[in-house]
Amino acid sequence: MTIDAMHTPRHKSASGDVDPTMSSVPATQGSSSIHTDEPPLVQVSELFKYFPVTQGLIIERQIGSVKAVDGISFSILRGETLGMVGESGCGKTTAGRTILGLYRPTSGSVQIGGIEINGIEGEDVRLLRRKAQMIFQDPYASLNPRWTVASIIAEPLRVHKLVATKAEATERVKELMLLVGLSPRLFNRFPHEFSGGQRQRIGVARALASDPQFIVCDEPISALDVSIQAQVVNLMEELQDKFGLTYLFIAHDLSMVRHICDRVAVMYLGVIVELTERDELYENPLHPYTQALLSAVPIPDPKKDRARQRIILTGDVPSPINPPSGCRFHNRCPLAIDRCSQERPEWREAAPNHWVACHLVV
Ligand code: SF4
Repeated sequence: MTIDAMHTPRHKSASGDVDPTMSSVPATQGSSSIHTDEPPLVQVSELFKYFPVTQGLIIERQIGSVKAVDGISFSILRGETLGMVGESGCGKTTAGRTILGLYRPTSGSVQIGGIEINGIEGEDVRLLRRKAQMIFQDPYASLNPRWTVASIIAEPLRVHKLVATKAEATERVKELMLLVGLSPRLFNRFPHEFSGGQRQRIGVARALASDPQFIVCDEPISALDVSIQAQVVNLMEELQDKFGLTYLFIAHDLSMVRHICDRVAVMYLGVIVELTERDELYENPLHPYTQALLSAVPIPDPKKDRARQRIILTGDVPSPINPPSGCRFHNRCPLAIDRCSQERPEWREAAPNHWVACHLVV
C-alpha cells in the first residue's frame, strides 16, 4: 500500500497487527467522535530511538547511546486524544518526533493510517507531512520571525500544492486565522507583534493548513500564561470535534491532561510505565511513579488538598545513557524491593484496559 491510502478516510489498516488490548476505549469515555469500531489511526510497536554519544575531535568514536525512547508500544484511535506525561527528559518529545518521522527510529514500527513510516522516502514523506503535523511547545521559536503570519500559514499550502493562486492562498490563510480565533486583518503582521497565546494560535493554524488527520501536540500550552492555557486547550478541542482530529498530547501538567485526554500514558526514562483511560488513571493510579506525579497535582478544595498525602520523590531522574537495571524507577521508588533492581517488571493488564509495569501490582 502506498501512503496515498491515508487520503481515504475511514479505511481499514493493511497490516491488521493491532494489539486489541491497547486500543479499546469505551464509547462513553471522552470525545464522542472516537472511532472504536475501526483499527487505530496510529499504531506504535516496540519503538526505540537511541542517539549516539561520541568522543574524540579528529576521529570520533561512539562510546555509548542516549536511550531516549526504549521500546514503547501503544495505539491511538481515530478521533481520540492520548496524553503522554512524565518529567522533563523522560523521552516524551523524542517519542513524538520519532512517531512523526522527524527522527529516524533506531528500530520498531510506526503506522499512521496503516502506513509504515519507518523508512519512507521521497514523495511519501511529503504526503506524511501533510497528514501528520506537530504543534510545538514554544510558539515563538517555532515561527520564523522574519515572515508575516500570512507567509507562515501559507507555507504548507504552497509546499503541498493545496492552492493554485496567490489570491486563493490569501483567502485560505484568512479562513484559517478566523478558525483559530485570530482577526484576518492581522495577516500582514509579524510573530513578535502577537501575544504568546496568539502565536500558539498561529502555530495551530499552520498545522491545520495541510488538512491533517493526526497532530502531535508537544507541550503546546506549557509556555503560555495560565489564563491563556484553557483558551488554547478549548480551541484544540473544538477543532478536534469539527475535523475529527486525532491527538497525541504531550504534557507534564497532569491537570490539563485530565481535561483534554481520553487515555493517558505515563513515561519514565524512555519507557511507558502505565497506560489507561483518563478517569481510571486519576482515580486508581497503580504505578508508584504515577501516584507520585498525581500527588503533586493541586486539588481545588483546600481542605482536601491539605488532607492528602504527598509523595516526594528523592533524587534526580537517572541518565538515559546508563539507565538503572531492573525497574528503571527502583532508585527513586518508595516501595522498591530487592527484586526491583534485578528484574524488569512485566507489562501487564492489571484491570480491563489498565496496563502497568510494576512487580507489586498483581
Ligand atoms: Fe517500584 Fe519495584 Fe514497582 Fe518499580 S517494580 S515501581 S521499583 S515497586
